Amino acid sequence: MKTLLGAVEIRELAKELDLKPTKKLGQNFVVDANTCRKIVKLAQVSEGDIALEIGPGLGSLTLALLENAHQVLAVEIDDRLANQLPITVEKHGFDSKNLIVLNQDAMGLMQLPTKPTVLVANLPYNISVPVLLNLLERFPSINRGVVMVQSEVAYRLAAKPGNKQYGSPTAKANWWVDLEMAGSVGRSVFWPVPNVDSSLVSFVRHAPLGDERQRSATFSIIDQAFAKRRKMMRSAIADLFEGEAEDNLIAAGIDPTIRGEALAVEQFFQIGEQLLAHNSRK
Ligand code: SAM
Repeated sequence: MKTLLGAVEIRELAKELDLKPTKKLGQNFVVDANTCRKIVKLAQVSEGDIALEIGPGLGSLTLALLENAHQVLAVEIDDRLANQLPITVEKHGFDSKNLIVLNQDAMGLMQLPTKPTVLVANLPYNISVPVLLNLLERFPSINRGVVMVQSEVAYRLAAKPGNKQYGSPTAKANWWVDLEMAGSVGRSVFWPVPNVDSSLVSFVRHAPLGDERQRSATFSIIDQAFAKRRKMMRSAIADLFEGEAEDNLIAAGIDPTIRGEALAVEQFFQIGEQLLAHNSRK
């Protein structure tokens, strides 16, 4: 019989492994099977999917993914947890052949043995944004996903231009995907109980806005715009255009007095196009 992990078993497992969850690795494990099933359902994981999970921990979400996906790729930095995962999977009635565990740091993930279609993860909170951006950039086969992050980060990721939560991570993530808030998760479903709130963010990949050269130019505009958030665009990006920012903004169809926080990624892209043209004229 296939079963998921519960609160008692998670504590027993941690004791067996002599695991003292660390803040540094963001180790707050979900102890509620219903929460895991809800996340997997939100991501619409089905048997055609190869799910990528970052930080499987003791396996709560991994088992819920295995109930639905064809295969799960799990990337875990902690050796003890990575080694234990296939054992837990078998003990719960699942076939560990459907699981690939990569015992490595997700921050440096450059390649994967298969092409994941969906990302489902309770991300380690201190690195959630860079990990998400890295995965979206490196693995275009990921066409959608649901991630659990600190609520503050979730609101930032799902913010729309003009909102005060909107910032560089949102604009950059929007290069690849559209993001939406997908609900909050109570603190009591975790062990140990975290001292921050958690929320779910869902995303769907859209058609690429441009190639790598265009992305890089767009991101340099985004970086400047949000490094000087309170400044008008004509001064925020002045250095990049060497005194010609105003003309280039007008050519991109952007009001030079607007602030970066009001611009959507498509508008940053238009300014990026001007930057590429400007640099090629040098
Ligand atoms: N998915 C599990 C759950 O929901 O119960 C655990 C989630 S816990 C918030 C984060 C997990 O990410 C931990 O298992 C931790 O060891 C792992 N982790 C932390 N930093 C990591 C990194 N850089 N690369 C891969 N895994 C990491």
